[in-house]
Amino acid sequence: MTRTISTKSELRQARAELTGTVGVVMTMGALHEGHAYLLRQAREECDHVVATVFVNPLQFNDPKDYEAYQRTPDADVALCEAEGVDLVFMPSEEEMYPDGPPMIGITPGALGEVLEGAFRPGHFEGMLLVVHNLLLLTSADRAYFGQKDAQQLLLVQRMVSDLEIDTEIVPVPIVREDDGLARSSRNARLSEAEHEAALVLSRAMRVAVANASLGAKTVREEAAAVIASRPEVHVDYLALVNPATLAEVEDDHTGPALLAVAATVGTTRLIDNAPLTLG
Ligand code: AMP
Repeated sequence: MTRTISTKSELRQARAELTGTVGVVMTMGALHEGHAYLLRQAREECDHVVATVFVNPLQFNDPKDYEAYQRTPDADVALCEAEGVDLVFMPSEEEMYPDGPPMIGITPGALGEVLEGAFRPGHFEGMLLVVHNLLLLTSADRAYFGQKDAQQLLLVQRMVSDLEIDTEIVPVPIVREDDGLARSSRNARLSEAEHEAALVLSRAMRVAVANASLGAKTVREEAAAVIASRPEVHVDYLALVNPATLAEVEDDHTGPALLAVAATVGTTRLIDNAPLTLG
């Protein structure tokens, strides 16, 4: 039985009544197969699953993006029911931030200044704050995060370590549509033509993985060429980085790396990434 809860006090109480291990999946709603996959993994590994659905205004650097963000609460609850979620926490903005935007914040540091951090000022501060608060409210043993948001995952891992939060962060691989596009709540905003153009992002990731043995320079060039074949796709960054530090790797680098891309198609901003082993 899935129970939907909208206040923090009810959540704390319902959580206290759960015995055994608890896994949490934090989302901004408009749930899709990517979220369902996280919920399934949590279901397999934990005695109970808590899903949170909250479009966190603090992490939107662009107010238009916040307004345009899809909200589908009924469908979200239905998906959570189908996935055997115990508790769905769906608070209002006032419930989460009764005194307005919090005064005390969490600073992501250097890992939050590159890639997404460079293009979305304030995004990671807002994300870390809400993840921190939801971790405390749910007292989860495990929290499941998608590798689709690779930098977010890294920052959350670092936050629980630096702030002594006793929750295991579990990374979950990227779930894609049949044509390769990384699943995202924002995909619903793409026209058919934009969706078609956006496929160069996942294609570039595949080409990069296939060329990884040829080295960093080739990977960068090949991936950039695939994306440049669709001028409708406006790249914010295409970066080949050290997966632990997010610093750009040198051309002669060998070993693990992460190729990460962010681009706008029409008015929709998309991200994708692929882990690979260079050299
Ligand atoms: P969001 O609702 O977009 O904030 O995402 C909530 C969680 O689902 C985050 O941990 C995301 O990384 C994860 N997620 C979203 N889309 C995907 C996807 N296509 N594959 C894997 N995880 C995803």
